[in-house]
Order: sequence, then C-alpha cells, then structure tokens
Amino acid sequence: IIEIRNINKSYGENRVLNDISLKVAKGEVVSIIGPSGSGKSTLLRSIADLETVDSGSILIEGYDITEKSMDKKEKKKILLKTGMVFQNFNLFPHMTVRNNIARTLKVVKKASAKEADEITKQMLAKVGLIDKIDNYPNELSGGQKQRAAIARAMALDPDIMLFDEPTSALDPELVKEVLDLIKKLRDEKTTMLIVSHEMKFVKEISDKVIVMEKGKILEEGTSGKVFENSSSERVREFLKK
Ligand code: ATP
Ligand code: MG
Repeated sequence: IIEIRNINKSYGENRVLNDISLKVAKGEVVSIIGPSGSGKSTLLRSIADLETVDSGSILIEGYDITEKSMDKKEKKKILLKTGMVFQNFNLFPHMTVRNNIARTLKVVKKASAKEADEITKQMLAKVGLIDKIDNYPNELSGGQKQRAAIARAMALDPDIMLFDEPTSALDPELVKEVLDLIKKLRDEKTTMLIVSHEMKFVKEISDKVIVMEKGKILEEGTSGKVFENSSSERVREFLKK
C-alpha cells in the first residue's frame, strides 16, 4: 500500500530523514521506534503530505505524492487513502463528538446528512463511545478523546491508518483503552503504521518493527528479531532503556 523510496529531508543543516526506504503491505502492522528526534514524526507527516521531502518518492497505492506535477484534486483523493491520528487528538473543540465526525464526512467525503449520521454512529459504536455522541471534547477523558479521534479518522474509510504516539499524551490508566482499540483494528486487518514508545505493545502488535536513529533506519525486521535477536548493538542498547 505504501512504498517509500530513498527519501531525504533536512531542516537547514539538520538531516532529519537520511535515505529512508520502507514498504507497508496491505493488512500489515508496521511500527516505528527510536529515540526522540530520530525523525519518526517527520516520516509519518511526510506520508500524510504534512511535510515535503527534499528528494525520493512516496508511493501510496502506486501514486507518487511527491510528484510535483500531480493534479491537486487527484492528490487529495490519494491522500484520503491515509488517515492520521496525532498525540494531541486534534478534535474540533467547538463541535460535539457527533459533529466532529459527521461534519468531517460531509465536508471531506460530501456525504449526505443521513449517510454521515449512520457512519458516525457505526464508528462510535466500534470505539465504544456511542454514549458520548452529543458531548463536547472537553467533556471527555483523554482516552475517550483519542478514541473519538480514531473514530473520526476511520470514518473516512482510509486504506491505511497512521498513528503518531497515540497514547503519549494520556495518563497511564487511560493508555490501555486506546491500545486495546488499536489491537481490535489489527484484528480487523486494518493496515497501520504506528509510532509508539509503548514497547510491550509494539512487540505484541507489529508484523514488522523499524528502528530509527538520527534519520536513518538502524534495523528493520519482525518483532521477534528486533526485540529478541537484534544483530545491532545500538538497537539492543536502545531497547534496554
Ligand atoms: P519524538 O520521539 O520526540 O517525537 P521524532 O523521532 O518524532 O521525536 P521528529 O519530530 O521527526 O522526531 O524530529 C526530527 C528532527 O527534526 C529533530 O531534530 C527536530 O528538532 C527536527 N525538526 C522537526 N520539525 C522541525 C521543524 N519544523 N523545523 C526545524 N526542525 C524540525
Ligand atoms: Mg515524534
């Protein structure tokens, strides 16, 4: 679904992505781990076209979103194949949970009121928040906010979900409900690319784990290989922490 070929990005002298290549296949769960500042968010944001890379290409279902000549409308359509969830939820504070999802569906997908309402309820049922449908974000716990944000992203029916540290803004007791939801999505065969510091979760959920450091991929392999049998001293050191 996603193929990244040799992307590079610098902020001034700071090379944040250094010749990164990776693939995510349909139904696969790929996690990215690594120290702070290693470029994980920049990589995810580049896939969502929230950052532009200096060189290399990012193919989403075969379409290269780094192609400058791409038609704007077509690009929008391709970018809709990805849904992104951020650390800080990014819900619209002045809208109820219902409207956060329904309005997004109407604006982005041109859904009818009836359609939007149906999908909204369906998604909220999926994330266990149907009883909060008419509450505002500030009336929800952190875990509930994040589940609502996930419901909103999923409502647009993306082919791949991108998660950037979805639990790092949450109190420890709320982390589990969000991780459990992501596990449920995995069981439903949702394709996901996840940046997380929750090592136990990463180990358990990932088909593939990518370890980044200073803009480079240090190691890439199955969960078992990276966590239990890494050939890289640096990876072992990072995991010890
Ligand atoms: P963390 O685990 O702390 O979230 P990260 O791996 O997600 O870290 P990035 O946010 O991708 O790291 O940042 C990688 C590097 O790029 C850092 O050195 C950061 O300071 C730099 N950087 C990120 N965004 C910008 C920006 N808008 N302008 C300049 N430098 C930036
Ligand atoms: Mg980050």
